[in-house]
Amino acid sequence: MRAAVLVAPGRLEVREVPDIEIGPGEVLVKNTVSGICGSDLHIYSGSLPDVMPRVLGKVLGHELCGEIAAVGPGVTNVKVGDRVAVEPLLACDRCVDCQVGDYHLCPELQHIGIGWSGGFGQYAKAPAKNVFPLPDHVSYEDASLLDCLAVGIHAVNVTGIHPGSTVLVFGGGTIGIATAQAAKWAGASTVAIATRSKLGREFALSTGIDVAIDSTTEDVGARMRDLTNGRGPDVVFDAVGGAQNYVQRGIEIVRRGGKIGVLGVFPEQRVTLTPPYLINELSIVACFSYAKWGGVPEFQIALDGLASGKFAGRGYITQRFPLDDIAHAFEVAEHKHGQDAIKVSIVH
Ligand SMILES: [Zn+2]
Ligand SMILES: [Zn+2]
Repeated sequence: MRAAVLVAPGRLEVREVPDIEIGPGEVLVKNTVSGICGSDLHIYSGSLPDVMPRVLGKVLGHELCGEIAAVGPGVTNVKVGDRVAVEPLLACDRCVDCQVGDYHLCPELQHIGIGWSGGFGQYAKAPAKNVFPLPDHVSYEDASLLDCLAVGIHAVNVTGIHPGSTVLVFGGGTIGIATAQAAKWAGASTVAIATRSKLGREFALSTGIDVAIDSTTEDVGARMRDLTNGRGPDVVFDAVGGAQNYVQRGIEIVRRGGKIGVLGVFPEQRVTLTPPYLINELSIVACFSYAKWGGVPEFQIALDGLASGKFAGRGYITQRFPLDDIAHAFEVAEHKHGQDAIKVSIVH
């Protein structure tokens, strides 16, 4: 099959690689749409050195979906021709974390598309339990967003957002908007997004998010105090990551007793726990990936959200590239993320 192989940091090569063989309990998926994730960009650029040995010579892409092309012995939940989304998390299923449903915390956690061959090849394999059949009216483009939407669902679950909550999200990328959408779905009365991206602000408003703040020209803290009777929002999310750290800004803006949800990866940044952190009794809550909530996979909850129209899928994908053009796609994603692009995707 043809696939994009990561041959060195910053270098993807599209070439023929050996066909994938499946075993008992596994399925082969013919990839249709594969999103480029912020973490793919971190891996690609070499800024996560621990991950490099696992991904060199391999095929990335953990936001994947497609059509079942073959099923291994013992597979009963899907058949050849079914349209599916693929949950990329691979956990051991035996440890305590797995058994209580927190399989994203499994010490043996791996991902399809990070070490295992993923969405940036013609085919990928997955354990049958990782594939979720798509209702006919859910498009592949929307299904390729499920990994990101599930992250938003998990972030809302772990920070306890409920009807009446007030929420600020820093970041107008896919994860920021997905988290804000999930907060609306959870019943939050006011959800604001703050981003420098005009495109991100416009798209956020079109999905039903209440307020979009231009973080380059507006005083975000003052706007949030106006929206919350002077108190500040219950939860502030950092969904930016990278070179800037909005946890510190969150500590300044969130209400007394509030929470700061951390979604962004910022390898170089430090947070200073200034006195307001203590005397306002704030909590910093890591929101990593997703797993089960109340016994239900958050990936399934996200799919239900798409299928029922609670999540708007259309509009996230702003650029589409064929597999052969993946180097260009990564370039666009790296340089335009948060400005002229929201989600850049490979369409097979
Ligand atoms: Zn991702
Ligand atoms: Zn485990």
